[in-house]
Amino acid sequence: MRKLIIHPIALLFSFHCLICTFLICSCTTTQIGKSDLKNLKTSSKTGSGPVSPGHLYREIKVVKRFIPRGRYGRKYKRPMKPRYITVHSTQNYNGDAWDHARALERGKLRAPKRRNGNRIGYLTWHFTIQEDVVIQHLPTIEQGEHADFNGPGNNYSIGVEMCEHRGNSRQRTLERTAKLCASLMHQYQIPLKHVVPHQHWPRKGTKPEHKNCPHFLMTNGRPGKKWSQFLRSVKRQYNRIQAPQSVAISGN
Ligand SMILES: [Zn+2]
Repeated sequence: MRKLIIHPIALLFSFHCLICTFLICSCTTTQIGKSDLKNLKTSSKTGSGPVSPGHLYREIKVVKRFIPRGRYGRKYKRPMKPRYITVHSTQNYNGDAWDHARALERGKLRAPKRRNGNRIGYLTWHFTIQEDVVIQHLPTIEQGEHADFNGPGNNYSIGVEMCEHRGNSRQRTLERTAKLCASLMHQYQIPLKHVVPHQHWPRKGTKPEHKNCPHFLMTNGRPGKKWSQFLRSVKRQYNRIQAPQSVAISGN
């Protein structure tokens, strides 16, 4: 069994640091050729074809492993109406998503509780993403403790952490993260401009105030080309979503 080894610096500063409904228009009969069908199937496999919201959610493969209610990072009731999505990376090169889930479930990710700092004595966030799965640790209608102490990043945002353990494909992790962001945007009507890096939120009283997180999507510690590219991939996934359309049934 692998042990969760978290670099102390990472701990202190990072952890926060319907059948695919190819609704071909329904009002009139649309002729679909074999080649069209093949193209649709191919694009679905590669994650670029149109999808229903439910289908996209299933593509992401979310496994729910909630921190026990009323304990550790959920010992206080802290309801939230999500308005932002905050993207992080773990800066943990040893632990995978399952390791992080175990650590959160067992209350292992402690943080000093202090005035104008961590409010609950634990680090918490909502989702951890790796190349092949997303694990959910908190309901999205509860606050996490991952971004900016008593700031809007914690009070109003869903925290998502991308894994960085050795052997994990960054590209596939980024694709899965883009899909998760798109799915959450759709579910909570969050605009693309409210998908932000952890770097976006100032952490008052710390130096630097704006953390370089997720570091591999920042350019000189700030959002630049790599972040814009990531946002474009989120937008591409969001644009795939097609709300289920009602099928017109002719009279009698
Ligand atoms: Zn972060």
